[in-house]
Amino acid sequence: MSNVETGRVILVGAGPGDPGLITVAGTQALAQAEVVVYDRLANPRLLDLVPKEAERIFVGKGPEQHTMTQEEINALLVARAREGKRVVRLKGGDPFVFGRGGEEALELAAAGIPFDVVPGVTSAVAVAAYAGIPVTHRGLASSVAFITGHAQEGARPAEDPTKEEQEVDWAKLATAVDTLVLLMGVGQLPEIVDRLIAGGRAGSTPTAVVEWGTLPRQRTAVGTLDNIVAKVQEAGIGPPAAVIVGEVVRLRETLRWFDARPLSGLRVLVTRTREQASELTRALAAAGAEAIELPTIEIVPRFDEKRLSTAVRSLKDEAYDWLVFTSANAVDIFFDFLWGQGLDARSVRASVAAIGPGTAAALRERGVRVDVMPEKERYIAEGLLEAFEEAADLTGQHVLLPRAEDARDVLIDGMAKQGAKVDEVTLYVAAPPKDPDAEGLARLRAGEIDVATFASSSAVRNLVALLGDDLGSLCQCRIACIGPITASTAEELLGRPPDIVASEHTIPGLVQALVETRESSNA
Ligand code: SAH
Repeated sequence: MSNVETGRVILVGAGPGDPGLITVAGTQALAQAEVVVYDRLANPRLLDLVPKEAERIFVGKGPEQHTMTQEEINALLVARAREGKRVVRLKGGDPFVFGRGGEEALELAAAGIPFDVVPGVTSAVAVAAYAGIPVTHRGLASSVAFITGHAQEGARPAEDPTKEEQEVDWAKLATAVDTLVLLMGVGQLPEIVDRLIAGGRAGSTPTAVVEWGTLPRQRTAVGTLDNIVAKVQEAGIGPPAAVIVGEVVRLRETLRWFDARPLSGLRVLVTRTREQASELTRALAAAGAEAIELPTIEIVPRFDEKRLSTAVRSLKDEAYDWLVFTSANAVDIFFDFLWGQGLDARSVRASVAAIGPGTAAALRERGVRVDVMPEKERYIAEGLLEAFEEAADLTGQHVLLPRAEDARDVLIDGMAKQGAKVDEVTLYVAAPPKDPDAEGLARLRAGEIDVATFASSSAVRNLVALLGDDLGSLCQCRIACIGPITASTAEELLGRPPDIVASEHTIPGLVQALVETRESSNA
């Protein structure tokens, strides 16, 4: 076998949970992977970075379940590399911090397989940081130790019950090191606390336990060695959790940030199309919320080609005075069609109106400036009509209105009333998805959503259709709508007014409305 055929294994640290905490080298390795072997603690969203055709192998490693033994994992890495594959071994945190990455590397070395190691951000440091606890601090802590709770006497290491862990000398550690960070320790917390106190650490030492750190579901219990066991029990905190013992824990009171953001801990359902969800998802995440995507809309272009190309030609021949858009989707489909006809923005020989900033941004991307747009807080058809009344005389004007099927008549009727002749061409339908997102749906049904957001009437309509008789799950969460039209659709279909309606009818406006609601309920 020639060397060229030998593959390579890259041990990659996935970081502690927040997918943003993987390294640049780690993302590059994932983007070039042919096989990915990953654990429970590596964020599954990182797999989105892996090429579609790559093989993905989950090897488990929950506290109580083992999908594969360590020996089987080692053998798998060797086998795939011998097939000539580029294998990424993706491990939570850092591969060489309680990750058994060392063992896997030894195995590869013994088999003569080339490997790289891409270190990761270890949970031992990052989880503390996300809880507002620096592991060292001038004047408070000048040393830190990472300790595994599984080496506790009498405890059997969960990853490999047959193997003896090296003993931890708790009596010495108890007072020799300022900050102690215990991983895999929450199960043995009572014994560990006893040993530290027996070893001379004061019972009053500040102690924090952080569950699912760096993720939206992060929860923290804070106390002292004396009372932390009770506090952890009370809060129902379990693995994965990091235990931090030492004076630095006091800093959390002032430095707490991740779980103190305006929407921290809030679970928000995002019902926009998959393509459009990311703007809302990002804005929610930046405010601290967990965004759960359940797209209820698929934009399906559907138009009469002859009619559309006639309209486009007339536009080019200056037969229209106005071109009006009421959604970014319409802009995209319209300009894609233009492009397909060998045309571009230069064919738009008319003034242009947009219903709001999202639509205007889509037009700008196509090189088109907007002449008329509603006032802030009026990004609806009625607002556009008001804007026309203010800014333009529509008497005798020809208007081209490319938009969705089933759109409201308000705009057409209103423009006609102002004296315009309106040609509507339908471009697309906002259809319910053929293959709804199973995870989003399951979490909604399980009551794991605090707020469901809707940015259009079709989103409400489609979600209601998707849920069928199971509307009850929507009743358990609060309903937030982008504006009054969506709100009245929600009220009609759900039988109660929405809890939150954005006063500025945009995505940032919707997030702002959630923040204001949160603030007023905390006040
Ligand atoms: N190699 C990993 C640690 C693996 S051991 C690293 O460097 O982070 C697994 C233990 O790490 C868990 O039992 C828990 O104690 C800790 N851990 C990992 N991810 C965590 C998270 N998001 N929040 C809290 N603790 C975490």
